[in-house]
Amino acid sequence: MLGRLAARRDDPGAARAGARDGSAWAIKRRVAALPRECPCGSSQRYRACCGPLHDGARAETPEALMRSRWSAFAVGRGDYLFDTLASTHPDRAAPRDAAVRELSRARERQRFLRLTVLHAGAAGDEGEVLFVARIFEKGVDRSFAELSRFTREDGAWRYASGVLVPGERLPADATALGRDDFLALASEA
Ligand SMILES: [Zn+2]
Repeated sequence: MLGRLAARRDDPGAARAGARDGSAWAIKRRVAALPRECPCGSSQRYRACCGPLHDGARAETPEALMRSRWSAFAVGRGDYLFDTLASTHPDRAAPRDAAVRELSRARERQRFLRLTVLHAGAAGDEGEVLFVARIFEKGVDRSFAELSRFTREDGAWRYASGVLVPGERLPADATALGRDDFLALASEA
């Protein structure tokens, strides 16, 4: 990887291609590709909801971070997804570049249709969010419910871990699921 980057610098053609990628035209095209309505389902504009978080603003609550991570999957912001993992999360050990590329590509395989937050709370530097994720992958329903745990590190909320129950084990109306019902389902696995 380092060798390839070094070779690029010596190749004027490759250098020009790199410059073009950061041109006003390319930036405009990327901005135009962003959704108007926020993918997190808040009914707000993306640029007033999760957009600012993707661009460096801090999530005030675990729920805000969770929503912004969902939106990051939907718009392909693998960098944000990687950087909002807690230091204890196992994926943190992966090389950043490869992990970011992989996370950014999730939206090529999956459609992030709807996020429903069922419960959210925080006490001190620990927080949790229970949500239902409606996701399709190549026409197959990959929906699930998850109780995510969040931890605050250096003042910023980070995703620590999650307990997941796949869609086929959820009740017909999963959005009516309470925290205790979810935990009972999760313990049956
Ligand atoms: Zn949002």
